[in-house]
Amino acid sequence: MPYITECAVDACSYNVGNACHALAITVGDPPHAQCDTYFVTSFKGGDPTTTGQVGACKMTDCRHNVKLECQARGIAVGPAQEAADCLTYSPR
Ligand code: SF4
Ligand code: SF4
Repeated sequence: MPYITECAVDACSYNVGNACHALAITVGDPPHAQCDTYFVTSFKGGDPTTTGQVGACKMTDCRHNVKLECQARGIAVGPAQEAADCLTYSPR
């Protein structure tokens, strides 16, 4: 699974120091390539010893998407159209 090389969404509960610590995120739904795992609560969660990876992606029109899985070498996440979007999204 591709790693999340950087996530600029500081407000997300899985984000510590611009890194995602969810074990696996889901990206989508179309038409926006947002991080579906983005979640805000009063404490930080996830596993601080690991870097998050992309577990599933619903953006079938992305050139990195093969059978609903991301095949990019890594992805970056940050605010764009939504609060937390896959910045590596590249429509075919
Ligand atoms: S990639 Fe998604 S789940 Fe991970 S820190 Fe960023 S917004 Fe949160
Ligand atoms: S790069 Fe494309 S396939 Fe990979 S998570 Fe982002 S939108 Fe999905």
